[in-house]
Amino acid sequence: MDETIEFFREIGVRVHEEAGGKLFPDSNRARDVLDALLRETGRAGATLLSGQRVLDVAPARDGFALTTTAGGIHAKAVVLATGGQSLPKSGSDGTGFAIARRLGHTIVPPTPGLVPLVVEEPGRGTPLHRALAGVSQDVELTIWIDGSAATRLAGALLWTHVGVSGPVAMNASRHWLRAELEGRTISLTVNFFPGASFDDLDRRWTAFSAERPLTILQNALAAMVPASVAAALIAQLNLDGTRQLAHLGRDDRRRLVHALVAWPLAVAGTRGYNYAEVTAGGVALGEIDPSTMESRVCAGLYLVGEILDVDGRIGGFNFQWAWCTARVAGAALGKGSGLTA
Ligand SMILES: Cc1cc2nc3c(=O)[nH]c(=O)nc-3n(C[C@H](O)[C@H](O)[C@H](O)COP(=O)(O)OP(=O)(O)OC[C@H]3O[C@@H](n4cnc5c(N)ncnc54)[C@H](O)[C@@H]3O)c2cc1C
Repeated sequence: MDETIEFFREIGVRVHEEAGGKLFPDSNRARDVLDALLRETGRAGATLLSGQRVLDVAPARDGFALTTTAGGIHAKAVVLATGGQSLPKSGSDGTGFAIARRLGHTIVPPTPGLVPLVVEEPGRGTPLHRALAGVSQDVELTIWIDGSAATRLAGALLWTHVGVSGPVAMNASRHWLRAELEGRTISLTVNFFPGASFDDLDRRWTAFSAERPLTILQNALAAMVPASVAAALIAQLNLDGTRQLAHLGRDDRRRLVHALVAWPLAVAGTRGYNYAEVTAGGVALGEIDPSTMESRVCAGLYLVGEILDVDGRIGGFNFQWAWCTARVAGAALGKGSGLTA
């Protein structure tokens, strides 16, 4: 990480740290990062052939023959850095997987990663996500696989008109999709009180009711979660928000507490590659030499970044992976040619 910060400083991009340890350019402009990288590419003596696509890469005498939309190119070595399939309109549309497969690589089946989830709740009136569209709150998500709590993730959840988004939902998406790919039984629950168990919250609620018996349910709940969430949950549970806590029966209290720690999210799917920030799956890592990023099945071919079977959670890990692997490949190629990385 320190080397990444230093590299960007050297090419004219100073970064600062924001909440959650995320690094941003001081200008807060993505364009400045791109411009600096392009400047550095020119300084290093590389020629960019933009405006054309690589259609195929085939082994040829003394290297590779590339077929592009503008003709053909001969290359001594090739670095495949085509990304995955996420945001296909950016050009990362999975072509790289097809090329790698033709060159002998195994592709671990891809799925979107870091993608908003679609929720479908038939027959329950206005579903919670639609009632709360635009509201963001800190929650804990539990991903249940084959009946067991497989993963718990905490963070900000954004309710949307089609389901849920925000860092915690995006981070959960890859777990949901990978389990679905394996044919497992998956469900998702929301805990509006991250870290709290049913018993913790039931005790807290009972104590609060004893201290403030005349407080009405809506106000009591709105003191703990956003008021809109309190109102929507009370409506979903068919409770009377104007009822004083002293008159909330044991069954209703337990139903409410259960909903607060394990609200079931009926996830029907995701918004797909057009909304995904990363692709999970890709070229199998066992087929790559990690000290050079050179293919073990096709000499002279290097693979870096998202085309490989690696995906990270939100927080800059995907960029870091792309930069680190590209640096390793660049250093290996530089050594071979007598250049320095
Ligand atoms: C909206 C969005 C937000 C993101 N935010 C973050 C973030 O905050 N932090 C983070 O760490 N990661 C983030 N990511 C993920 C990160 O951008 C990627 O993981 C990273 O850019 C992957 O780098 P890459 O070079 O491997 O592939 P890419 O960045 O996908 O680049 C691949 C390039 O190859 C080109 N290409 C593909 N096929 C061909 C072909 N056949 N011929 C010619 N060119 C081709 C594509 O056009 C593209 O320019 C985000 C992604 C998206 C979509």
